[in-house]
Amino acid sequence: SGNVRFDDVRFAYDPERPILKGLSFEVPAGKTVAIVGPSGAGKSTISRLLFRLYDVSGGKILIDGQDIRKVTQSSLRASIGMVPQDTVLFNDTIRYNIRYGRWDASDAEVEEAARTAQIDAFIQASPKGYETEVGERGLKLSGGEKQRVAIARTVLKAPPILLLDEATSALDSHTEQEIQDALERVSRNRTSLVIAHRLSTIVGADEIIVLDQGRIVERGKHGQLLAAN
Ligand code: ADP
Ligand code: ADP
Repeated sequence: SGNVRFDDVRFAYDPERPILKGLSFEVPAGKTVAIVGPSGAGKSTISRLLFRLYDVSGGKILIDGQDIRKVTQSSLRASIGMVPQDTVLFNDTIRYNIRYGRWDASDAEVEEAARTAQIDAFIQASPKGYETEVGERGLKLSGGEKQRVAIARTVLKAPPILLLDEATSALDSHTEQEIQDALERVSRNRTSLVIAHRLSTIVGADEIIVLDQGRIVERGKHGQLLAAN
């Protein structure tokens, strides 16, 4: 399970200025749909609506056929694993940060999740580390490493739906490749909505939706879109 459907979704932060102007698409269970488009198109707004940080102004968002407004916030948030653009970690060990929200997980499960996200080498470090004082055992984590911790946390939670908002911050290409690999492994066979800021991510998506000014302007597979342009 884990089917997501946007049905004529409209949204405005400010009633005078519509941001999403009637969006309809579906993420079938187990498939990956990527949303691409210029900055300001409304991509991140889609992820905020699915996570119900805001309510739609019109239309509906359905998970497994049920309107998300009829689901409790806690069960909605348990069914969606969100990896945000900018991950804020607790000032504690990475192990703690990965286990957060899954306190029943065994050490072996935490380590397995860390391996999937390729963050296992850092697992005993605290996220702040050297920022606090000399002599700390921790390491200062880069943006990419923090995002991998967030990926590991999501892997451990194993939610039916994944919501990935790619970091826009400049990552070095090695880090970027590592995150890409981790995300690809995590999203395989899972219902995934990817807010994509880099073209490399979307190659494997089952469907690509091109958004511009709050409207779908094109959709299809990677190869079809390339052929049409
Ligand atoms: P991204 O383009 O990486 O998705 P954001 O989602 O953070 O970036 O922001 C997109 C745009 O929305 C930016 O131009 C930003 O200035 C604007 N924005 C973000 N938050 C607000 C806000 N609370 N009020 C007005 N504009 C905002
Ligand atoms: P994208 O992710 O495609 O860059 P966003 O969904 O972040 O686009 O933003 C779409 C539009 O909504 C932008 O014009 C942005 O300025 C505006 N916006 C984003 N967040 C807010 C906010 N919290 N309040 C008001 N306007 C916002």
